[in-house]
Amino acid sequence: MAIKKIKTQSVKKKRTTTKPKKSQAIRDAEKAKERKQKSKAAPLRSSIRIKVQGIPYKLRKFENLGARKLPESYYTMQGQSLKSLIRNTPRLFVNNAVDVEPHRMPKRSFTKGGKPAVKGIMWTNDPFRPDRVRRYHETYIVGLDAKGEEKPLYKHKRVLVQCTCESYIYTYEYANAWHGAAYLIYSNGEPPVWMNPSFAPGMCKHLIALSKIVIENNL
Ligand SMILES: [Zn+2]
Repeated sequence: MAIKKIKTQSVKKKRTTTKPKKSQAIRDAEKAKERKQKSKAAPLRSSIRIKVQGIPYKLRKFENLGARKLPESYYTMQGQSLKSLIRNTPRLFVNNAVDVEPHRMPKRSFTKGGKPAVKGIMWTNDPFRPDRVRRYHETYIVGLDAKGEEKPLYKHKRVLVQCTCESYIYTYEYANAWHGAAYLIYSNGEPPVWMNPSFAPGMCKHLIALSKIVIENNL
């Protein structure tokens, strides 16, 4: 039996050599390298490691919506002292306060109403992320006692505290206002039903660090 030969068209295969596509990680690294070379920010040389400053601030700061009070109640009349606020703060926040430092040494001053106050501009010095953008938070402690102009703030029976950080505003601003230890300034006035449903008073790590300075320096 004869086998029929089928004619087939010969196809020349061409192999074109292409460069492998760069991965996203490599492209990101190249972009970051280029940005660092173009950047005019002078690296600040500290004793141990290099800190690059001048990175734009990305997170928007909270708007000051004006001081508002919650309606007067048994709790707002009672108020909170600095020590009771520290005692109510979770251990984690107290532990995190170890890394918080003041921009300048806080000094004792007076509010418009003549109440003694301490203002601190606090930032977190994270040893594992030395190149991180510094976020400065305005932090206040005001003493409310009558005739307390000379008393150090930690001896006042009632204080007002305030910080501009997210932790404080989402967890403690409403709760402290409920306990007469804060005004509503940055929050929208809604109760923290998820973060702090029992309205436990307390402080963020910046306030803990500032109150530590107040206690140590008798401010
Ligand atoms: Zn804070």
